[in-house]
Amino acid sequence: MLSLQEAQAAIAQKIPPCTQQEELNLAQAAGRYLAAPVAALTDNPAFDNSAMDGYAANSVDLAAKGFRLPLRGESRCGSVPAALAPGTAMRIFTGAPLPQGADCIAIQENVTREGEAVRFPKNTRVGAHIRRRGEDFRAGDLLYERGRRLAPHDLALLSAAGVARVAVCRRPRALVVATGDELVAPGAPLQPGQIYESNRLATLLLLRELGAEAVDGGTVGDDAAALRELLAGARDYDFIVTSGGVSVGDHDLVKEVFAEIGEIGFWRARIKPGKPVAFGQVGERGCFFALPGNPVSSLVTFKLFVEPAVVAWHGGRYRPLSFAAVAANGFERHAGRQEYLRARLYNDGGRTLARVLPGQGSHQIGTLRETNGFIVVDADSRGFAAGDTVHVMPLCGHTCME
Ligand code: AMP
Ligand code: MG
Repeated sequence: MLSLQEAQAAIAQKIPPCTQQEELNLAQAAGRYLAAPVAALTDNPAFDNSAMDGYAANSVDLAAKGFRLPLRGESRCGSVPAALAPGTAMRIFTGAPLPQGADCIAIQENVTREGEAVRFPKNTRVGAHIRRRGEDFRAGDLLYERGRRLAPHDLALLSAAGVARVAVCRRPRALVVATGDELVAPGAPLQPGQIYESNRLATLLLLRELGAEAVDGGTVGDDAAALRELLAGARDYDFIVTSGGVSVGDHDLVKEVFAEIGEIGFWRARIKPGKPVAFGQVGERGCFFALPGNPVSSLVTFKLFVEPAVVAWHGGRYRPLSFAAVAANGFERHAGRQEYLRARLYNDGGRTLARVLPGQGSHQIGTLRETNGFIVVDADSRGFAAGDTVHVMPLCGHTCME
C-alpha cells in the first residue's frame, strides 16, 4: 500500500498538462489558470509621484531658505506639471507627478501656510513621501508563472501592469458519479436500509470551485453492467470522480469495472480516513479517481488527491499552506497511517490552538459543522498530548496555498 506521498507522486506523474488555451479579457479571467507566464507592460509606479496631499520642494532650497519657501503652481493627477521654479515650493496631490527639480514632499497636515509662502517641517528629508518610478515592478518583469490561478487581486495587478488580455487553460471537464444501492436523493422518503446521498453535490461544487466544468453523472447502483455503461461513456472527460464501491466488499465493483476500460495506477493509500481510494487513467487524457463512499473519506481524499491533480493539470504548483499549532487536547492512536483529524483552529493570545473534535468516524459528517481545519498526524505517530506542537492545515473553501 502506498504512503500518502507516494500516492500523490504517482498521480502527479500521470497528470497530462492542459494543452488547449484561450485568450480572455481580464474581466473573464477570474478563477482561471494562466497558460503562459505574464510580464508587466509598464513600470509601476509609471512615474515619480506623490504619496500624499502636500507640498513638493527641493531639499537644498529648504535648508538654504530656513524651510520657508514661496508657493508657485501645483501638480495634480492626470497632467504633467511645470518644473519646480528654483527656491519655491509646489502644491501637490496624491498620485500627481513629482515636478522636475523637487526631491521631497511634506504632508499637508505638517506644513503651515503663511500667505503666499509655505513653512515646511525641519525634518523634511530627501525622498520623503515620493513614490519612485518602478519601485513596485518594472516593464518586462515576470509577474506570474504559468499555472497561476487568477484571484480578483491578481486581476487588479495585471490591470495596473497594463495587461488587458491573458492566455488561460481551457477548463477541465469532470464527471461526478455516486455509487451505491442504498443511496437516495434528499427530498425522497427513506425506505428501510436507504440513506441520503451526500458526496456527489460536495464533489461537484468542490470541482467547480477549482475551476472545472463539472457534470453531474447521477447515482448508479452496485451493478457491474450499469457501472460499465457509465464509465464507457465517460471517455471524453479529463476527470472522472466516483464515490463508493472501491473497498473490499463483495459489492464494491468500481475498481474492477474501471480496470476493464482503463488502467489502475494504485489502489489504497496509508491514510485515515480514506484508505480505499483508487486512481487510474482512461485513454490519453482521462484521470480517474474512485473515492471512498464514507462522506468524510470522500472529502479528505478529494482534498489530498483530486485537488492537487486539478491544479497540476493546469500547470500550477500545489503547495497547501500548513503550519504549527498547539494541541488544545490530546489524541491517542495506532501508528500506521497518516491521519487527518477534523479540528477546530482558533487564536488564543497570539498562538494558534487546534482542538480535536469529538466524532472522528469517517461517516460522521456532523463533525464538519465545527471543522475549520485538519490536524495532520504522521503515519508513525502514536498521537499527541495537550500542549504538544501539531501540524495543521486550514480548511476554508478551497485550500490556501503557500
Ligand atoms: P462504500 O465506499 O461504498 O463501501 O461506502 C462506505 C459507506 O459510505 C457506506 O456506509 C455507504 O452507505 C456510505 N456512502 C457511500 N456513498 C455515499 C454517498 N454518496 N453519500 C453518502 N454516503 C455514502
Ligand atoms: Mg457502497
